[in-house]
Amino acid sequence: MTYDLHSHSVYSDGTLLPSQLVARAAQRKVTTLALTDHDGTGGLEEARAAAHEHGIELIDGVEISVTWRGCTVHIVGLGISALNSKLQDGLAATRGGRLERARKMAAAFDTMGIKGTLEGAQVLAANPELISRTHFARYLLQQGVIKDVKSAFKRFLGGGQPCYVALEWASLSDAVRWINGSGGLAVIAHPGRYPLDTGQLRELLAEFRDLGGAAIEVVTSSHTPQQYRNFAEHARHYGLAASMGSDFHAPAESYHDLGGLPPLPDGSVPVWTKLQ
Ligand code: AMP
Ligand code: MN
Ligand code: MN
Ligand code: MN
Repeated sequence: MTYDLHSHSVYSDGTLLPSQLVARAAQRKVTTLALTDHDGTGGLEEARAAAHEHGIELIDGVEISVTWRGCTVHIVGLGISALNSKLQDGLAATRGGRLERARKMAAAFDTMGIKGTLEGAQVLAANPELISRTHFARYLLQQGVIKDVKSAFKRFLGGGQPCYVALEWASLSDAVRWINGSGGLAVIAHPGRYPLDTGQLRELLAEFRDLGGAAIEVVTSSHTPQQYRNFAEHARHYGLAASMGSDFHAPAESYHDLGGLPPLPDGSVPVWTKLQ
């Protein structure tokens, strides 16, 4: 079995249609794929039909943007029900601020002499409700302003950079409640990526566990092998299960393709043992 429990389609900031994503996963021998678009579940229906066609298992997922103590943290929901109205209301509220934020980011680019970023990003965002920093980064790449998506974040879009606009996302407790309330399991995405010191990280994990969180991502594209071991140990310590997923967005942008990650460290409790 090959699990990949974190991926994106054009319904958020991926570049593949859900059907193309599933086909690629199947071709790469993934047996269980979770589609986890940011703040929305619009791609799941198409993904389900494609998964049926290709004979792979699809886990209904989502990746919710959360603000925890001023820091953006991503919470993946696995095995959610997209029909749950509290979850859908929560997701709609969470993505509701994105257009206004995009306008502010574009204004910041304007003052730097980089014009047309809002329109440019909107053309690249297939889902008008889900305009993300990634779409701005891809527009800058297209225009030759930067050489890869990563440098767009380093120079303009990352925290503390000139075109970064903070947005208050969902609270951690709301996100976990929406996920659990719809029958899913809550997973802290890529914990190694947050600008938190060890003490803050421990507080996040303890609070998440106490709220009913189920797992943390241990093996994911943005973690080093040292971080695989480190977060496997954190998971054990807090009684959380371990998840793995490539966080695949686009063929040209990902370090690890679908299904291309190493297995969970020995002794981990895989999150899929808790999924029905
Ligand atoms: P947003 O939800 O609009 O704030 O955009 C966040 C998305 O930007 C993440 O889900 C990633 O896909 C992407 N992202 C964030 N930081 C980086 C980075 N340093 N390099 C490449 N992509 C990034
Ligand atoms: Mn993304
Ligand atoms: Mn994320
Ligand atoms: Mn993601």
